[in-house]
Amino acid sequence: MKKVIVIGSGAGGAMAAHMLAKTCDVTVLEAGKAFEPFSLPMDKLAMFRKTGVYFDERLIQLLFPAMRIDREADMVMVYGRGVGGTTTLATGNAIRADEGLKQIGVNLDEEFAQLYNELPITTDHQRYWTKITKQTFGVMQELGMDPQPMPKLLRPNSCKVCGHCSMGCPTRAKWDARELLEGINVMTGCKVTRIDIGDGKAKRVHARKGLQHLTLEADVIIVAAGGYGTPDILRASGIDCQPTLFVDPVLCVAARMDNARQDHQLLMPFVSKRHRYIISPYMDWLSFFFNRKWYKPMDGMVSLMIKLADEEQGDVRNGHMEKKLTAMDRLHLQRGVDECRDVLLRMGAKPEDLFLGTLNAGHPGGMLPLTEAEAETLHAPQLPDNLYVCDATILPKALGLPPMLTIMALAKRIAKIIAER
Ligand SMILES: Cc1cc2nc3c(=O)[nH]c(=O)nc-3n(C[C@H](O)[C@H](O)[C@H](O)COP(=O)(O)OP(=O)(O)OC[C@H]3O[C@@H](n4cnc5c(N)ncnc54)[C@H](O)[C@@H]3O)c2cc1C
Repeated sequence: MKKVIVIGSGAGGAMAAHMLAKTCDVTVLEAGKAFEPFSLPMDKLAMFRKTGVYFDERLIQLLFPAMRIDREADMVMVYGRGVGGTTTLATGNAIRADEGLKQIGVNLDEEFAQLYNELPITTDHQRYWTKITKQTFGVMQELGMDPQPMPKLLRPNSCKVCGHCSMGCPTRAKWDARELLEGINVMTGCKVTRIDIGDGKAKRVHARKGLQHLTLEADVIIVAAGGYGTPDILRASGIDCQPTLFVDPVLCVAARMDNARQDHQLLMPFVSKRHRYIISPYMDWLSFFFNRKWYKPMDGMVSLMIKLADEEQGDVRNGHMEKKLTAMDRLHLQRGVDECRDVLLRMGAKPEDLFLGTLNAGHPGGMLPLTEAEAETLHAPQLPDNLYVCDATILPKALGLPPMLTIMALAKRIAKIIAER
């Protein structure tokens, strides 16, 4: 039986492992631990905001180790570290976002069709929409912004509408990639440092597990440590990546609105697709705790998220991002801010009550982008034959859209290619 090592258990890694476990002996190496949702009461924690105790977003990981934060200049990067990767922090949005892949000749119709069959994807959550969600939807319709209910990886009947999707779903109503890993050998707390490559083959994986140094061999090695983790592993193994990092920056525009209760609604219940960005209602917990402008009552504000497809330039080195928004990124972001302001004002907010959130991002990728020449193989020529990359790192372009479904479609195809070899 072919022996396969998968590095990383997020969207790409878990799907590749799930597919290959049918025919191969698969081991997943995951740097983080088993995932536990954040369980401390938000309202109690909120009482300490004005003491200044929440002065740096990086403190989050002390209370919630599955959420990792990096900061570069005015932008905060959020990513997952634990079984299920960043999918455990996701808000469950399931959008097909393969325009960039189509442009280079990758057709994933079959894989998307399979995903729609296999995963609990639904728009049947409108019965949970709160008054403020319906009002926002109506205003965006009036403004011609064509809002559409968001397809969600969700079992609506188990959803408690707690509004904490991005801190782990307490009821597991929200699907995440852990469901793909059932029955698969996952070694947790196992951080891969490099891969030995020789004679055109990937030979051994080196990892740290606590104080131990592990060396593991396999016939096929799949690197799926995410857009933030994979470039470091590849470079430490002698394979260069490109400074073409995208992150899909997010900025929330909010307004004080008494009793809006946006803190208890499904995050991102609907979406309006604009040119190079989307707009969607989103209670921005990061800004709520760490941004002084957000020191308002938890139930007394309405917030709209702008998620941007940024220009592909930037880098990750030693787990730290080097990324600045370009003039064009800022221009698109400003257009989004202006549109959100219009929506909030029409909903009755006063201009002096509007405020912005912290610029953040959660979709790193693109540093080993697929090209037209690789449309069939999904394998970059600088990689040894038996080494694949299977995560957001290979996306050719920023999406400005939720990437999970597209990464899983790619992972399915890559697993089929490996299985057929
Ligand atoms: C708050 C938030 C909400 C989001 N909501 C959505 C959403 O609703 N819909 C959507 O489509 N997308 C969403 N995303 C983005 C989505 O979750 C990610 O784009 C997706 O999970 C990326 O998949 P991946 O396989 O590239 O990496 P990840 O899912 O990040 O998985 C990478 C894994 O590799 C592990 N790893 C890293 N380094 C190493 C190492 N050296 N050795 C071993 N293991 C390692 C990590 O611990 C992690 O488990 C959201 C992101 C955030 C931050």
